[in-house]
Amino acid sequence: MRRKIVAGNWKMNTSLSEGLKLAEEVKNDAEKGIPEGVSLVVAPPFTHLAGVKEILAGSIGLSAQNCATDDSGAFTGEVSAKMIASAGAEYVIIGHSERRMFFRESDTELNKKVKIALANDLTPIFCCGENLHEREKGIYKEIVRNQIELGITGLTEDDFVKVIIAYEPVWAIGTGKTATPGQAQEMHAFIRDLIKSLYNAETASMTSILYGGSCKPSNAREIFENSDVDGGLIGGASLNAGDFLAIARSF
Ligand code: PEP
Repeated sequence: MRRKIVAGNWKMNTSLSEGLKLAEEVKNDAEKGIPEGVSLVVAPPFTHLAGVKEILAGSIGLSAQNCATDDSGAFTGEVSAKMIASAGAEYVIIGHSERRMFFRESDTELNKKVKIALANDLTPIFCCGENLHEREKGIYKEIVRNQIELGITGLTEDDFVKVIIAYEPVWAIGTGKTATPGQAQEMHAFIRDLIKSLYNAETASMTSILYGGSCKPSNAREIFENSDVDGGLIGGASLNAGDFLAIARSF
């Protein structure tokens, strides 16, 4: 069966001491119990990875929020998948809409990132999702299909089974607007069908597809109830351990 995952994307928030405190709070709260079969992942800033790893000590997954397209070299300011893995992370978010929008990350670049993440034994959490204009024009499925097809180009089935997909409608990220359960299910089912057509039914049924976009304790249950929604990529609400765990407990 595919995994249920609730991942917290801290974005560019928290000082090191605040981040370590938040990790401690998440760990302590998680120890009180989470539904069986649900995995937690946190994605702090790069600077916090090694310290957060020491606190989590393997009980909660650790993710970076981005990685470079190369392993090493003259790329000032970049952080490679190899470095991220050496800091103890097991996951990396790739293609978040903020990276696509503000840093102009292209599909070709994201495809390289997915490949280099896999080569370094990191699980890519590959993000896709349409903006408001694309939703209103009714072209959201084509947009998401393109993002996925280009992002995973060249991946064998063995590679692809290690990838997690996060569907994050851009119009719902950080806006307080959430996709309705029906809109989320429609897109998750569409993505699963797409994976089936690109690989096969077994691979499609094994792929975890997370929802992201203003998910919070008050709406997580109705979103997670959908058969093709396997969890969430949580932004704002993951900065509060209580809210983050309440979302995980919505399963
Ligand atoms: C995100 O950025 O991945 C996200 C889903 O953010 P928020 O939950 O704040 O909308």
